[in-house]
Amino acid sequence: ERRRKMDADERRKLLDELRKISRRSYLEMREDRQLDELEASLRDEEMMFSKGELTADELAEYEIKKQLLELAKRKKALEAATLSYVMPKAYVTDEGKVDLKSKAELLKARYVEPSEAAGKVTSKDGFSEQQAWEELQIAKAAAAGGNGGPGAPRGTEKKYELLVEEEDYIEFVVDAGDARLAGEGEVPEPPSAAETHAKAHASLQEVRRSLPVYKFRDAFLDAVDKHKVVVLTGETGSGKTTQLPQYLHEHGYTRGGKMIGCTQPRRVAAMSVAARVAEEAGVTLGREVGYSIRFEDCTSDATVIKYMTDGMLLREFMSSPDLGAYSVMIIDEAHERTLGTDILFGLIKDIARYRDDIRIVIASATLDAEKFSDYFDMAPIFAIPGRRYPVDLYYTKAPEADYLDAAVMTVLQIHKSQPAGDVLVFLTGQAEIETAQAALEERGRSAGSTMGELIIAPIYANLPAELQANIFAPTPKGARKVVLATNIAETSVTIDGIRYVVDPGFCKQKSFNPRSGMESLVVTPVSQAGARQRAGRAGRVAPGKCFRLFTAWAFENELEPNNIPEIQRTNLGNVVLMLKSLGIDDLIHFDFMDPPPVEAITKALEQLYALGALNDRGQLTKLGRRMAEFPLDPQLAKAIIAGAEYGVVSELVTIAAMLSSGNAVFFRPKDKILHADAAHKAFHKDGGDHLMLLAVYNEWAAAGYSKNWCKESFVQYRTMCRARDIRDQLLHLLDRVEIPLNEVETGDEVAIRKAVTAGFFFNTARLSRTGGSYKTVKHQLGVSIHPQSCLNEKLPRWVVYFELVFTSREFMRQVIEIDPGWLTQVAPHYYKPSD
Ligand code: ADP
Ligand code: MG
Repeated sequence: ERRRKMDADERRKLLDELRKISRRSYLEMREDRQLDELEASLRDEEMMFSKGELTADELAEYEIKKQLLELAKRKKALEAATLSYVMPKAYVTDEGKVDLKSKAELLKARYVEPSEAAGKVTSKDGFSEQQAWEELQIAKAAAAGGNGGPGAPRGTEKKYELLVEEEDYIEFVVDAGDARLAGEGEVPEPPSAAETHAKAHASLQEVRRSLPVYKFRDAFLDAVDKHKVVVLTGETGSGKTTQLPQYLHEHGYTRGGKMIGCTQPRRVAAMSVAARVAEEAGVTLGREVGYSIRFEDCTSDATVIKYMTDGMLLREFMSSPDLGAYSVMIIDEAHERTLGTDILFGLIKDIARYRDDIRIVIASATLDAEKFSDYFDMAPIFAIPGRRYPVDLYYTKAPEADYLDAAVMTVLQIHKSQPAGDVLVFLTGQAEIETAQAALEERGRSAGSTMGELIIAPIYANLPAELQANIFAPTPKGARKVVLATNIAETSVTIDGIRYVVDPGFCKQKSFNPRSGMESLVVTPVSQAGARQRAGRAGRVAPGKCFRLFTAWAFENELEPNNIPEIQRTNLGNVVLMLKSLGIDDLIHFDFMDPPPVEAITKALEQLYALGALNDRGQLTKLGRRMAEFPLDPQLAKAIIAGAEYGVVSELVTIAAMLSSGNAVFFRPKDKILHADAAHKAFHKDGGDHLMLLAVYNEWAAAGYSKNWCKESFVQYRTMCRARDIRDQLLHLLDRVEIPLNEVETGDEVAIRKAVTAGFFFNTARLSRTGGSYKTVKHQLGVSIHPQSCLNEKLPRWVVYFELVFTSREFMRQVIEIDPGWLTQVAPHYYKPSD
């Protein structure tokens, strides 16, 4: 009765509150503070309610809260399902085709109107059904095994028809408000086909001269001559990254053996840009023009222009705190505000104050230059005028539950209905990209000659260098290129010829809860600024179109206006250790542009203390100094060093290399799934995944690092080569910190697991009494063993995991079994024996 009485105003408020909760549930790293609070206060009231102590008003409030909680939980469960982009069974008809009608109905349920919900929610049906469905999907995924990647359990295999049927088209609407990303600067006439053709065949030098920065070459050099720090902005693709270092070199900044450095937030960008510049300059990559990324140094004594990841420049500070080798340092893509970039800001600002012979350029794609200028003591801003054609923005009418499927569908829709022009699709990672690629290729083949050819070109962090070049290859006449990219194509890499952008509105981000110290990789909505950047990619060569796979309402209400700097949402353990080893002790007062939460710094200090890297006065210990030498997370570094103590350092180095190789180790070709599974099963170890990785590596080594062995064992050859490379480098580092290798590998499994525990004791979880699921020891968070782990069936009572990934739920990836008694041995500052 009371519910009925709730007036329209109250309902609206309730709905608003709900929407906020949903957004927080993404953005506050699923901390669920809101839900917890609600739940806690409800518990009190429930007691009062049962004793009949609530007044009429309180009773009304109690009712609303109860309803709110129920709805929020339900919505969260639905969103969790959306995030992992598996489709509820009801979306899929018997032939595996998406049934849009029932889909629309189900989607409506995502934003339940309280009036509609009142009846349904109390029965809890929706919620428990959802849970049951999730369980089913996970069980299916576990049965199927899956192949590497972030392990999203994908339950439904969709067969695509020959062509998209028109009734399957996703309906887009052009929103009346912000419907267009206006052109910018002097918007030129759209080029004719002949011009486009001519451009594709222009010489490299002609292309260089046609870039927007070219006109400002002299003015730029003049500004750098006159000012120590220059802030530079310019649209993506205007030539900042590729041209400025060359101008500076031509202008004489590399005389006397000095280098021009240019940092990039991403490995792929550093590599691909260096390759491009080497080509433009007509030199061999790695000689005059080179790059340096973690575990790969492609430079030589002759190098004068060096691209590197921001993380690598941070490492260079450790051996050369004044960056004496450089005459100019360009901090590029500053707007991305990666952790590395933010720390570099603080260190570089300091250098600029005392080194008169260095020049700093802060380059950024967006216009928030004033903030950079303010921070760098009012440095002058050099703005390269933008040049962009207008882009029409399309939104979906209703939210899309499976954005990956929707993205594939949209590409096909564009291919069928839109004039020539390449397509750029933003996805969140390698696994998604591979899935989409397979789906599109299959479609492309079956479409045969009725439509122009679709050329699918993927790009993501771990894509082998030789395949990266594909995205830049000019598209043949009559064909259409579809670039499937991660966030890297938002600003770091520019691909010419793109006229259509498909934006599902998600990216993968590390997120960290400073209170619990838990970090996990989560698919997160992009910001409004990010979505605009993505749309802008469609307007570089001609007027374009951007298809957003979310609603206009979601854009306005669910997306944050700007990206949250990484420093405010990440584990600072690495950085704190590095800053400490640079002698920067007062971290709370370090000159951060946007300081991280104090609790995040405190947490990092606590963790480093527990690892033994800091003493109780917060000073670096000998162990800490050694750990800082490794370009690894402190936990992994500690595990390696602990390996020495247990006589298994060589084994630990192999394990660390395998864990750092970044790619899936196994593969499962569709036509040989059973063979592959059997081969993989042969590697399984009772002790856990780390031991399995060690076994894979050792067997490969024993087979003479053979490519054939990999093929027969269904192991990724490339991943293994990378692991071998990393392993070699880690061995060098061990030498440097004077840790001797064990002469023979005993492969002592207990010793190995103990050493791993010595680094990863924060990540301990215990099997719940109610079987199947685990609870983390410190924070009682519900987690599960990843379906691909070799302990997935054994379910030991105590485990230590390498990392958490969040798909439909929180999964522990790379898990070993431990004896809880070890915890007090390896981490006396953290675990106390219970009586
Ligand atoms: P900005 O840094 O201002 O975004 P860039 O210097 O990265 O611009 O790009 C300038 C031009 O060089 C773009 O038109 C881009 O397409 C081209 N380009 C950059 N990298 C490559 C590459 N690896 N291969 C081919 N063209 C490239
Ligand atoms: Mg750039």
